[in-house]
Amino acid sequence: MNLLEEEKYIHVLDQKEIPDSWYNIQADIKNPLKPPLHPATKQPITLEDMMPLFPVSLIEQEMSREKWINIPGEVLDIYRIWRPTPLIRARRLEKYLNTPAKIYYKYEGVSPTGSHKPNSAIAQAYYNKKEGVKKITTETGAGQWGSSLAYACSLFDLECEIYMVKVSYHQKPYRKTMMQMFGAKVIPSPSNLTEAGRKILSEHSNSPGSLGIAISEAIEVAVKDEKTKYSLGSVLNFVLLHQTIIGLEAKKQFEKLGIKPDVLIGSVGGGSNFAGFVFPFLEDALTKNEKIKVIAVEPAACPTLTRGKFTYDFGDTVGMTPLMPMHTLGHNFVPSPIHAGGLRYHGAAPLVSQLLLDGYIQAKAYYQNECFKSAVEFAKLQGIIPAPESTHAVHAAIQEAIQCRENNQEKVICFNLSGHGHLDLSAYEAYLNGQLEDYELTDEEIQKNLEKINV
Ligand SMILES: *Cc1c(COP(=O)(O)O)cnc(C)c1O
Repeated sequence: MNLLEEEKYIHVLDQKEIPDSWYNIQADIKNPLKPPLHPATKQPITLEDMMPLFPVSLIEQEMSREKWINIPGEVLDIYRIWRPTPLIRARRLEKYLNTPAKIYYKYEGVSPTGSHKPNSAIAQAYYNKKEGVKKITTETGAGQWGSSLAYACSLFDLECEIYMVKVSYHQKPYRKTMMQMFGAKVIPSPSNLTEAGRKILSEHSNSPGSLGIAISEAIEVAVKDEKTKYSLGSVLNFVLLHQTIIGLEAKKQFEKLGIKPDVLIGSVGGGSNFAGFVFPFLEDALTKNEKIKVIAVEPAACPTLTRGKFTYDFGDTVGMTPLMPMHTLGHNFVPSPIHAGGLRYHGAAPLVSQLLLDGYIQAKAYYQNECFKSAVEFAKLQGIIPAPESTHAVHAAIQEAIQCRENNQEKVICFNLSGHGHLDLSAYEAYLNGQLEDYELTDEEIQKNLEKINV
C-alpha cells in the first residue's frame, strides 16, 4: 500500500541511519563559554580538579571544541534498542486547532525508561566502565534520571547508588521500584550515610530533601572512594552533547520529508533535552546565518531563563560543585512543589544561557495548569500522555499553532516530547480534580535569593 505523504503520521529512519557522531556546538558558538571556576579558589577549573568526580573522557568532552565527537560502537548498539525515535505529525491536533501550521513532535518517550535521559546515561556508564570505575553515584528528583542511570549501570555491570529526594521517594514509589529492578541501591535523601545528609538532618529532622542536597550527598560519596564516580543528568556540556542524537535524527527526518521546521520548542529543566533537540538545527543558524525560531519553555514557578540573572553560581545548594556562568535564581532558591519535578532546578546549562544571551533562542514561562490543560487535549487526540515536564513544550507548541491560525501562516512547528507521563498519573489526577495550584512568584522573592548568590 502506498500512503500519500499527507496520510502519514510517523516518519521513521532505518536503524542504519542513526547518526554516528554527536554534535558539539562549542565548535560553532560565537562567544565561547566563560570557564567554570573552582568552588574554593575561584580559579578556572582544571581537568585534574574534576578527576575525582568524572572519568577523563567525559571531562575532555566537557572542554572539547571539536565539532563532531564519535559515538562509540557499544553505545550505538545500545541506542539501537529504541532508536531512532519517531518524528510524528500531530495531524489530529492540527485539525482540532484548525490551524494552517504543521505540527510535528520528536518522541523520546519510546526509550526503556520513558524519556530522553538514557541518551546520556548509557554514554556516561560506558566511559566510566572503560576507565575502570566500579560504582556510580547520582541524585534523582522525580526519578527519570535515576531509573535511566540504573538501567545503564546494569548493562555495563556497574554498581549504582542513587540519592532520591525524600518527598519523591515517598510520592513516586514505582520509580523507586524501577531503579531497584535494574539493580540500583536507592536512598532517600537527606540520609544519615553522608556528612552533608547528617548535617541537614540535625537541623531539620524531617527535611523533605531537595535536588541540591541529594547532589551534595552523591558527590561526597564519590570523592571519598577512588573507584566511585559521580554522574549528573543535565546542565553539563557533555550531557547536552550526548543528547544531540535527538536533533541530529530529527534533522535527517525533516531532510527526508523535504521540509525545514520554522519553529522549534523544548522544555527546560537543566536544558539537556532542549539543547539536544535544537543544537543540531542551530548549527545552520550559527554557521550559515539561517533563521529559525527556537523557544525554551520553563515553569512560571521556576523561571530561570525568563527572570533569573546571568552570573556565576553553584550547581548545588551546599556549594560543592564548580561555579558555572549561567542564568540562575540563586542556589538557595527552592522552587514550589510543582509536578514537573524535572524542571525544578535553580540554574540552566551554561551553553543554553549563552545562546539566550546571544539572541539565538528565546525563553517563555507558563503555569502548570495551562500546561496540563494542553497536555490533556494533546493526549485525547494523539493518545500519548506527556510527562509533566513535557507538557510545557506541548503548551508552547499549541500557542504557536494558534498564532499561526490567527495570522494565517503555514509554519512548520516541531517540539520535543521528552517523555511520557505513565508514572506521573497522580499529577494528572490532581489536575482533573482541580487540585493543581499555580504559584505566583513575586519580584521580591526572586530578588531575595539573587542577592544571596554572592560568590
Ligand atoms: C528530566 C526531564 C526534563 C528536564 O531536564 P532537561 O535536562 O532540561 O532536559 C524534561 N523532560 C523529561 C521527561 C525529563 O525526564
